[in-house]
Order: sequence, then C-alpha cells, then structure tokens
Amino acid sequence: MVMQEGASEEQIDRVIDALVRMRLAVHRSTGVSRTVIGVVGNTGAIDPASVEILDGVHEVLRVSQPYKLASRAFTPDDTVVTVGDVRIGGDEVIVAAGPCAAETEEQVEATAAAVKRAGAKLLRGGAFKPRSSPYAFQGLGEEGLQMLRRAADRHGLPLVSEVMDVAQIEVVSRYADILQVGARNMQNFTLLRELGLVRKPVLLKRGISATIEEWLLSAEYVLAGGNRDVILCERGIRTFENATRNTLDLSAIPVVKKVSHLPVVVDPSHGTGRRDKVVPMARAAVAAGADGLLVEVHCNPDQALSDGAQSLYPAQFDDLMGELRIIGPAIGRRVCVKTGSGLKAQGSGPTEGSELKAQGSGLAEGSER
Ligand code: PEP
Ligand code: MN
Repeated sequence: MVMQEGASEEQIDRVIDALVRMRLAVHRSTGVSRTVIGVVGNTGAIDPASVEILDGVHEVLRVSQPYKLASRAFTPDDTVVTVGDVRIGGDEVIVAAGPCAAETEEQVEATAAAVKRAGAKLLRGGAFKPRSSPYAFQGLGEEGLQMLRRAADRHGLPLVSEVMDVAQIEVVSRYADILQVGARNMQNFTLLRELGLVRKPVLLKRGISATIEEWLLSAEYVLAGGNRDVILCERGIRTFENATRNTLDLSAIPVVKKVSHLPVVVDPSHGTGRRDKVVPMARAAVAAGADGLLVEVHCNPDQALSDGAQSLYPAQFDDLMGELRIIGPAIGRRVCVKTGSGLKAQGSGPTEGSELKAQGSGLAEGSER
C-alpha cells in the first residue's frame, strides 16, 4: 500500500488497522516522501479495491518477487545500516578490512593499525572459520574474538566477524558489531531465522552457487524475523572458470540495486583468490556502485594461516584506498579519508619476487574455494 504524499498518521493507522483485521502481517516503511505499508502472509488473493478506497492510500501494488521485505517495491529508499558512526549504504563507500583469521595478538594489532591508518572504517576478521578440510586451521574461537575486539576498540573500528552456527550467535554477538554469514551458510535457514531475532546487523554473503533471487530470499529470512539491518556481500560464485578462485559477479551490484533497497558490498578477496587480482576488482566494484568492500589484509601474508595468497600487504591496501578516493567521487561517492599521521600505512610491501611467485603459482595451500 503506497500512501499519498503527506498522508497523516491517522490515515496510516487506519490502513494498518484494516490490514491487521484481515489477519495480515504488516510492515511499515517510512520513506523520504511517502510511507509504504507492506503486507505479507496472505494465503489467498486480496481484493485491491477493499484497501484502495481507504483514505490516504495512493496506490496498491502487487509485489511480484518472491522476496517482499527485501524488495524495492516494499522499501523504495535505500536502506542505510548504521553501526556507531559508520553508515553502510549511504553516500560513503565503506571499506571493511583485516585478516582472514585472527592468529596472534600481534598479527591482529599490526593489521588493524595498518587498515585503520589507510582509511578502513570496519575491522574484519574471523575467529570461527569455515574450512573445506577439517584438518585446516579452524580459527581461534572466542580467544580470537577477544583479540579482534581489543584491536577494534584500540582503533575505534566496529568489528565484523563470522558466525557459523546458531550455537555461536551468543558468543560472536558479545564481541562483534556485525555478524557475517559465510557463503557456505547462505541457505542455513535455521541460522538465518535466529539472526532475524538478533539486534545486530547481518552481513550475508552470496552462496557459492546461489542465484540472486535465492540470495535475496535468504536475506528475507533475516528481515522477516524482525532484523532490518542486512548487508549483502557478493563474494564470487563457482563457474567453469578456474583461473580465479571464484568468478566475481560484479553485475550482481546493479541487478540487486534495482530490485532491492539493501546495501551491497563486494569481497574481491574471496572473489578472486589472488592478491594481484584483488586490487583491480576492488576498483571495479566501487566503479560499479558497491556500497563498500570487504578486503583481506595481513601484516605478513606469506605467514598467514589461511588465505595468505589473497591477502593484501598493508602498503598495497593503502595504495588501493588512495585509488578509491579518485574513483569514488567520479560516481558521486565519498571514500573514507586517511586517519592518523597521514603517512603511508606501514608494513612490508610486496617485493617483486613475492608478487611474481604469487602470480605464477596455483591456488596456495590454505585457500578455500
Ligand atoms: C571469509 O570471509 O573469510 C570467508 C570464509 O568467506 P566466504 O564465506 O565468502 O567463503
Ligand atoms: Mn578468508
């Protein structure tokens, strides 16, 4: 139900009452110029005429997509997810960066300091890691979350960390500000339902073989539970191409932007699997309209316990941020300015040798498709 511009609170309430009496689940969304009252849960067809004639109703639209709350028809204005003073989905491109996994206090601190200096607005790091092999490093669990939280607090960065299971929601929520759902869990409907009840934003990665519609339906699970703060993350899908770890589907950005109001960020690290491909795809993602990036950075990628081959050196990340500050404004977006001394991020830059090695070798051990 799209209300007329300037419809009064009384008119809106009367429409909501009428819908509730019809035993429908009602979701109100107050836009810049109009209020939209969304209805889900009807089992039979509703006669539009019965509500169209109510005072203050501008028009009644049928949302043809199977996802409703995630659709732009329901919420015409872009959703902005706010964490502290960070706004994801607004005019600023938000970059989340950090190590694939927390390994040691020193590694987390050095990486957090570097990404903060370069202009990242969120710290991202894993403590519970979904690994293809049960013998690979699984993450440090709560100890890792503690390291990440301490570094996040020291640098004033909200923390993004992955939750793999319903049983982990409590502990991850205690430390992280944004809960990441990994690609492998995109269709873990039990987890998604539980996250609908949580009062923290959810960063929902696209599944390895998920269509955009399936991805939005997964977001719908979280939204339907009452959690409106969902951030979508394109991280590459599996195709026949094996030159890169996954095929980063950047066309998903404009596709999702058209049909949904949810913010979309891009993870070029898992999307490509190789650090020399991460930077060009990060630039392209911002140019294509991504609301943010999720980039793996490690203070010493050659020693990383997971995803070293795709982790940027701090100096590379710093250069990338500089480039994004040129690309962003060209399409009307701001990109976080540098903080602190304004000096280049410290840490070992890539030597020519290591770059060549990274290009020449296949998928490094420890990287997950
Ligand atoms: C990750 O972000 O470290 C991760 C495991 O990502 P994905 O779920 O996209 O594979
Ligand atoms: Mn990783």
